Amino acid sequence: MNNMKPRKVLQVIGRVIKQLLFYEEIECSVCAKQGQRVCDECSEMFLRHDNITCNKCGREIKETGLCYNCRKNNRPYEQGLIALYYQDIPREFMKEFKYNSKRNFSYFFAEEIYKKIKNCSWDIDVICAVPMHNLKLLGNGYNPPSLISRELSILMNIPYSRKTLKRKRYTRSMSLLKNIDRMEHSSKNFMTGNFDYADMNVLVVDDVSTTGATLHVCSKILLDNGANKVYVAAACGDNTEFS
Ligand SMILES: [Zn+2]
Ligand SMILES: [Zn+2]
Repeated sequence: MNNMKPRKVLQVIGRVIKQLLFYEEIECSVCAKQGQRVCDECSEMFLRHDNITCNKCGREIKETGLCYNCRKNNRPYEQGLIALYYQDIPREFMKEFKYNSKRNFSYFFAEEIYKKIKNCSWDIDVICAVPMHNLKLLGNGYNPPSLISRELSILMNIPYSRKTLKRKRYTRSMSLLKNIDRMEHSSKNFMTGNFDYADMNVLVVDDVSTTGATLHVCSKILLDNGANKVYVAAACGDNTEFS
């Protein structure tokens, strides 16, 4: 941390000033105990993609190797991770975060990714987020994966670029589509942005990964446009193997 970039230093100072100005009392979002945004006791209850995980996407599976979706689709990225199971409290947090303006939950999700990513020997130059279409962004006010990426960028001390990927079309929610359509559907949705990531190792961050189609397609676009290596991370993910 001795060679923190000026922008990082400003971000950290900004956060401290905000806490002082607004007397922001940090308390556990689950049990309201003071001191941590999510206390250790509550955090222990969350199910994570640990134990045996897919060698490609990081989803928890029964036996060593690849999950169903990664066996079916040859992933273009190096490796991925998924932090939490998309159920119980993390699922409620995610809904509040995505649809109910609870922007500060981005910190919780970034921390969960960070806990896992710091044990991976990934060499990352820049972090980017699965983008949202500008029209939808106008309606929502923020792109959840971008907020997670910004927090993760501070935790990892690696730059974040919002101009790495762009969304091409304004489409209906992925959750309404059948799994089979998702890959093709996703490939029509995204395009490369203005940021020059040639020869860089890029980390793509998403909020929820179900089949992995979005991260697959985003990685492919980055690699087709000159990225050296791509890694992917999702804050929450289903477990398709066990369901
Ligand atoms: Zn708690
Ligand atoms: Zn997998």
